[in-house]
Amino acid sequence: MNHVVLTGDRPTGPLHLGHYFGSLANRVRLQDTYEMYVLIADYQVITDRDLPGAIQQNIDALLLDYLAVGIDPAKVTIFQHSAIPELNQLMLPFLSLISVAELGRNPTVKDEIAHSSQQVVSGLMFTYPVHQAADILFCKGTLVPVGKDQLPHVETTRLVARRFNERYGPVFPVPEAMMGEQPLLPGLGGGKMSKSRGNAIALSATEDETAALIRKAPTDSERLITFDPENRPGVASLLTLASLCLGRTQQELADEIGDGGASRLKALATEAVNEFLAPIRARRREHTVAEARKVLGEGNAAARERAIKTLDEVRAAMGF
Ligand code: ATP
Ligand code: MG
Repeated sequence: MNHVVLTGDRPTGPLHLGHYFGSLANRVRLQDTYEMYVLIADYQVITDRDLPGAIQQNIDALLLDYLAVGIDPAKVTIFQHSAIPELNQLMLPFLSLISVAELGRNPTVKDEIAHSSQQVVSGLMFTYPVHQAADILFCKGTLVPVGKDQLPHVETTRLVARRFNERYGPVFPVPEAMMGEQPLLPGLGGGKMSKSRGNAIALSATEDETAALIRKAPTDSERLITFDPENRPGVASLLTLASLCLGRTQQELADEIGDGGASRLKALATEAVNEFLAPIRARRREHTVAEARKVLGEGNAAARERAIKTLDEVRAAMGF
């Protein structure tokens, strides 16, 4: 199968290890084989925030994160929502294909509302999964490397594609999600590692920052280290981080630490993460913001051309 891969991130802060093991590693692996688009979802920043915040700064940092993990702009089109009006316009017909009840049932949207700091829930919060359908379908994406939280949104996209094709004739492929090695990496202390929840280790963190974050990570006072995500989420999250960075199982590492307690566990996790991030830190130093912005400019132009083509097809299919 000749896939078109689409995936992306919100410029809400630096990418972290959850992004890496949930999605970025797959992107780097797939970029040699398939046509690939990576979206900086700038409009979606305001799904759960009143203002876009330090948007330009966050976009610059996100671009450098991409280059640092090895996403190659010679192979991948990196672009942003706000530069592609034709992509955003797809949202109109797509919204007509999904019911209000279906929008209200989305479990990820419910979870994000629960964690939102906003006083009110906006219409965009309920409809951004349809916006995501536009993201995936504007380039006729067929494969979407994402973390577990995105599965309901890919399901929405599949519905939109199928219903559009039924009503107006075959225009869109029905895409599939592809989950990474760790579809839901827990953050320090447990829960989903998330930019917005203050429990993440950023890919751009220095060695000292990484050590400080892990030192402060909540654990428990039980000396014997066991892998028990249900009852010991703090300990389990450190074991999982170390396990992914070292390519060994959590159980193996727990047995090795034995009754060394949280301090041994933290020392091991710190070393594992820092060693894992070393080549990513080194690659980041090879790139500049000016170069990254140039990459985005070129990606925006290419993505826009693709979006114009698809919107033309959509209009024709709808008889406009
Ligand atoms: P925010 O808190 O601002 O929503 P986020 O950390 O959830 O940020 P997103 O930009 O929403 O990050 O997600 C980008 C991609 O990374 C998605 O495919 C998502 O599934 C994946 N991802 C994010 N966090 C994790 C995680 N902890 N484990 C695995 N994948 C993740
Ligand atoms: Mg998110």
